Amino acid sequence: MSKAMVWFRQDLRLSDNPALFEACSQHSHIIPLYILDVKNSAPGSAQAWWLHHSLNALQKSFATKLGLKLILRQGNPLEIILELINSFSIKAVYWNRCYEPRMIERDKKIKARLEKMGIEVRSFNASLLNEPWTIRNKNGDFFKVFTPYWKTARATLFPQPMQEIRTRPIGIEAVSDNILDWKLLPTLNWACQFSHFWTPGEEGAQQKLTEFIDQHLEHYKINRDFPEKNATSRLSAHLHFGELSLQSILRALEPAKNNPLCDLASVEHFLSELGWREFSYYLLYHFPTLPYKNFREDFDAFPWQNDEALLISWQKGMTGYPIIDAGMRELWATGYMHNRVRMIVASFLTKGLFIDWRLGAEWFLDTLVDADLANNSASWQWVAGCGVDAAPYFRIFNPVLQSKKFDPKGIYIRRWVPELHALENDLIHAPWETDNSRAIYTKINYPEPIIQHSEARIQALHYYHQLKKK
Ligand SMILES: Cc1cc2nc3c(=O)[nH]c(=O)nc-3n(C[C@H](O)[C@H](O)[C@H](O)COP(=O)(O)OP(=O)(O)OC[C@H]3O[C@@H](n4cnc5c(N)ncnc54)[C@H](O)[C@@H]3O)c2cc1C
Repeated sequence: MSKAMVWFRQDLRLSDNPALFEACSQHSHIIPLYILDVKNSAPGSAQAWWLHHSLNALQKSFATKLGLKLILRQGNPLEIILELINSFSIKAVYWNRCYEPRMIERDKKIKARLEKMGIEVRSFNASLLNEPWTIRNKNGDFFKVFTPYWKTARATLFPQPMQEIRTRPIGIEAVSDNILDWKLLPTLNWACQFSHFWTPGEEGAQQKLTEFIDQHLEHYKINRDFPEKNATSRLSAHLHFGELSLQSILRALEPAKNNPLCDLASVEHFLSELGWREFSYYLLYHFPTLPYKNFREDFDAFPWQNDEALLISWQKGMTGYPIIDAGMRELWATGYMHNRVRMIVASFLTKGLFIDWRLGAEWFLDTLVDADLANNSASWQWVAGCGVDAAPYFRIFNPVLQSKKFDPKGIYIRRWVPELHALENDLIHAPWETDNSRAIYTKINYPEPIIQHSEARIQALHYYHQLKKK
C-alpha cells in the first residue's frame, strides 16, 4: 500500500492531468489537495468568483468519477503539506508545474524540504505546449521576437494520446475546509451576471471548446477582430485555471483539419494565438520582472501623469469615447473584454490619458476572469510600446477609426452603452463629430469626451521622441 498526495494548483481538471494520472498509476491511496495560498497567488476579485465555482465543479467530479474527496485548505502550503504527510504517512507528492516567479520560488523551496525528508516529489507540465526553457534559437539563446519563436515552437506540435486513469485509487479522509468559509464570492452583487456567460470547470471548458470548433473556427481569422461577433473561443479563463489541456485542444482540432472544407488558415491563426500565450509565459519565465518593470529601460523616463479622475472615468466606462466605454463596461459586467477592444482601451489609457500601463494592468488583474500574470503583463507592455517585440511607439490606436472599422454598425457599442442606442450608425462612434452635437448631448445622458484624442496623440509622439533622444 503506497500513499501519495496530488497538489492541485492551475490544473483544475481530472482528464489529461499528468500529475494525477501518474500518481494514480503508481499509488493505491491518493489525497487530492487544493491550497488557497493568498500570500503567493491571491486571486483578483473576478477570479475569486471563478475559483469558487471551479473548485466546486472539481469536488463534484472527484466524488462522482473517482469516488475521492478533494481536500481544501487555506494557508502556508509547506506547513499544510507537512501536516498531511505526517498524519497519513504519505511517501510521495505530485504536482503540475506553475510558471509565475513567486510560485516557482515557493515550489523550489517546498521540493527541497520534502526531498530532504526522503519524500519523493514529482512534477509535470500540464499547462503549456512547450515549457519556457525548451525553446531556444540556433545560438542556444532564448527568443525575444514572437515570429521566429513561434516558427520553432510550432514545429514541435503533435497531438499526444489522452491520459486516462484506469484504476480507481482509494481516498484518504482528511479534514477539509468548507469553501463557503473562504468567502471567495463577492459581497457586492457585481458579479451577478457572470454565470450567464461562464461555466467554470472542466465540463464548461469542454463545452466552450466544442462550441468554438463547431460554430466559430471557420472564418476565425477574419471574424476574431469584430467584438460584436463573439467569434473567439472564450477559453482564456479555462486555460488559466487549467480546466482544459492544450493537448485536448490539439486533438480536437485534428478532425476539423482533416475535413477537406476546413479553413486551415483559421486553424493556424488560432494555434498562433495559443502561441502568444506560450510566448508570454516564455517571457515571464526569462524576465521575471515583466509584471512591473519596463522591458525597454528608456521607458523608465516616460512622464506618466496618472490623473486619478481620468483613471476612474476609464475604469467606469465614462470617458465619452463609445468604444472605450463599451469595452470597460463589458469587462465590469462579464469579467471579460474582447481582445481588439483590450488593445484599444489599453492604448487609450497609456497614450491618451498618459496613465502608467501598470495601473491598467492592475485593474485588469482584478476584474478579468482570465487575469493571467504572463498574458496580462506581456500584452500591456506590448500595447504601451515598452515591451519585448512591442507595438512600435508611434502605433497609437485611434478609438474612433477602430470603432468604425471593427464595430461598423455600432452593435457592440449599443450592447454595452445603452445611452447611445438611438444614435444613427454614422454618429454612434463619435457623437461630437457633427454640427448639431449640442442638441445630441442634451438628449443623451452620456459624457462628452474627457480628452481630445488628436491632441493627446501629438503629445504622446512628442514624449516618445524625447525618450528616443535620451
Ligand atoms: C491589454 C491586454 C491585456 C490582456 N490580458 C490578458 C489576461 O490577463 N489573460 C489572458 O488570458 N489574456 C489576456 N490578453 C490577451 C487576449 O486579449 C485574451 O487572451 C483573449 O481575448 C481571450 O479571449 P479568447 O479566449 O476568446 O481568445 P481566442 O482568440 O480564442 O484565443 C485562444 C487563446 O489564445 C490565448 N491568447 C489569445 N490572444 C492572446 C494574446 N494576445 N496574448 C496571450 N495569449 C493570447 C488565450 O489563452 C486564448 O484563450 C490581454 C490582451 C491585452 C491587449
